[in-house]
Amino acid sequence: ALESLKDIVKKIARSTTVDKALVEEVVRDIQRALLKADVNVRQVKEISDAIKKRALSEDVLPTFNVREHIIRIVYEELMRGIGEGLEIPLKKAKIMLVGLQGSGKTTTAAKLAKYFKDKGMKTGVIAADTWRPAAYEQLKQLAESYGIGFYGEKENKDAVEIARNGLKALKDYDMIIIDTAGRHALEEELIDEMIEIAKATQPDYKLLVLDAAIGQLASRQAKAFHDAIGINGIIITKFDGTAKGGGALSAAREIGIPIAFIGTGEKVEDFERFDPAGFVSRLLGMGDIKALLEKVERVVSEEELDPEAFLKGTFTLKDVYKQIEAMNKMGPISKIFELLPFGFSMKVDDSMMEMTQEKMKKFRVIMDSMTEEELLNPKIIDSSRIRRIAIGSGTSPQEVKELLKYYKTMKSVMKKMKKGKFGKLPIKGLP
Ligand code: GDP
Ligand code: MG
Repeated sequence: ALESLKDIVKKIARSTTVDKALVEEVVRDIQRALLKADVNVRQVKEISDAIKKRALSEDVLPTFNVREHIIRIVYEELMRGIGEGLEIPLKKAKIMLVGLQGSGKTTTAAKLAKYFKDKGMKTGVIAADTWRPAAYEQLKQLAESYGIGFYGEKENKDAVEIARNGLKALKDYDMIIIDTAGRHALEEELIDEMIEIAKATQPDYKLLVLDAAIGQLASRQAKAFHDAIGINGIIITKFDGTAKGGGALSAAREIGIPIAFIGTGEKVEDFERFDPAGFVSRLLGMGDIKALLEKVERVVSEEELDPEAFLKGTFTLKDVYKQIEAMNKMGPISKIFELLPFGFSMKVDDSMMEMTQEKMKKFRVIMDSMTEEELLNPKIIDSSRIRRIAIGSGTSPQEVKELLKYYKTMKSVMKKMKKGKFGKLPIKGLP
């Protein structure tokens, strides 16, 4: 187990440096993931070129911030043109939903209505889809089961008139969501109807509902709707069932429209505000970037870890203690490894993780039984001290020795970091 632990430590140490090889490895991983997620090929090239250039040329603080540095660049480049997402303030507004048939508009109308109702707003929906026979019933049922206001006219085939009447009927409502028809393709008729409804209702938000699973087709759809009625936000649905959400991301980047919400399932509850960091990490299948960033930041800001001291070679058992404390703060070790993205991820089986975590706890107890002098100068710990520490901590001399061995391993890794190619950070101007 100690051998594997050593490997992990080495890999982590390696991952804290920015050099050309690391950046290229990371970029390759990202390219693969983006293409797999159906991000547009041209955009993949743009994104990876930008990441490479920035990662190697921009100033970085040593050690911990290198990882943070690369993640931030990846994140910023992916989010270029999309920003932090569209936030719809909690005040009186009309939202019109558009999109092709089956994209999830009606479901999303109910999801949105519930979302705003849960925030304390009086919310109603208008069923302005006169093409699909069951559309009226579908929305009515959803609205009724969630205590949401509803307006529809079962027999009327004039969607524009229904929308207009609906606004009158729901005039006391804070948030009104207009569900519209969608047909199989971007037929003239559909587009014309959208334009007419938008004219008649003057919505504050025209949100395009895009099925994540359509991949590359998303761009064409988004463009057509945007050209026709001017979209101001995108809702990506069915993000639960596909790895192809990149198509929708590409579409959003291409027309420069923010993403507002994400649908993650068929149930009305399966809906969330768009969170860029969460989206990117899910898209790339690399755990939650934001959580990692926040945790790393928290640990560093509390100065529990002093990377400089590690590099100086004045590495003592106190530093091991701090490391363990930091790991404890960041959650179980297995969780931390889950959070590490792409190039830094490593395959470790769970049983070893569990053991390691247990060991960490034991190490801490052992160190609690040491004197200040022993912690700062572990060399003085001879066999009689080992026996005393073992008794004091309720462990065995074997376990104390194991800690000392771990300490030595860590120390030699740190020394290598200091001496080796890791010493000169940041690396600038590499060809
Ligand atoms: P519309 O034709 O655009 O109104 O689409 P609907 O709202 O009727 O949805 C079409 C299908 O997609 C239905 O079976 C929904 O249950 C399903 N659906 C909608 N949103 C989601 C989602 O976020 N995840 C999943 N898995 N299914 C969804
Ligand atoms: Mg519908």
